[in-house]
Amino acid sequence: MKYIDLHVHSNASDGSYAPAEVVRQAKEGGLAAMALTDHDTVDGLAEAVAAGQRLGVEVIPGVEISARFPGGTMHIVGLFIEYHDGLLDARLAVLKQARNDRNPQIIKKLNDLGIAITMARVEEISGGGQVGRPHIARALLEAGYVSSIQEAFDKYLGFQRPGYVSKFRFPPAEALAMIKEAKGIPVLAHPFTLNLAAIPLKNLIIELKAQGLAGLEVFYSEHTPEQEALYLKLTRELDLLVSGGSDYHGQNKPEITLGSMASQKKLTYDLVEALKAWRGRAYSATS
Ligand SMILES: [Zn+2]
Ligand SMILES: [Zn+2]
Repeated sequence: MKYIDLHVHSNASDGSYAPAEVVRQAKEGGLAAMALTDHDTVDGLAEAVAAGQRLGVEVIPGVEISARFPGGTMHIVGLFIEYHDGLLDARLAVLKQARNDRNPQIIKKLNDLGIAITMARVEEISGGGQVGRPHIARALLEAGYVSSIQEAFDKYLGFQRPGYVSKFRFPPAEALAMIKEAKGIPVLAHPFTLNLAAIPLKNLIIELKAQGLAGLEVFYSEHTPEQEALYLKLTRELDLLVSGGSDYHGQNKPEITLGSMASQKKLTYDLVEALKAWRGRAYSATS
């Protein structure tokens, strides 16, 4: 049996390992295929695809776009995206700019509270990838203002805390359109983070499907068996593709490893074949 993982991060976003190293670990974990799905960037894809060719792992170019959704977190994964032409990259640059503007705003708020941390130190901690709140949290921890990363979020960085600055997000329809423009397959990631009960969730998915959604992340490292069953049922009722992955982040979420999540045995290569068949039908001139 060939196993897959369609939700993986590298240090091109908030994972701890370089794209090539992540692919090496996928190989070591016995995976035949993996999708690199970094947050709001395609920067790691070329390196990952090249490593995949070298190591004999099929690397599916992907992305994970955060969309606007009050009351919960909506992430939309795009699988099999076209990234060479720079189109998607240009669209995502808006988010990169927003994120770059946001970090200094957070630091300024913290400085105003008398907390002496600097953007320069936060950038050093990030080690060259996307800079975000986890790195600011580590700077707070390092400087002794908090005793854990969790405390940094609870006390300063979380929603409605004194160091919080709201984020720019694309509306869901726009995130879906961007993925389709890149000839990708839009998949709703970890549906439970929307914080919706079964009926409202189904209604939302019907709405998203009308806007271009093609699949659901049924298998996920944090899904309960009940959630998994519900999402699988929804894919059948609503004629959606089945996807799944670990959401591996390397050392930044050490409890998740590649190739060994609880539902790994259900993440088999035939899901990739179904995704490819859908893509072949959806886009006449595939790359
Ligand atoms: Zn996510
Ligand atoms: Zn993710």
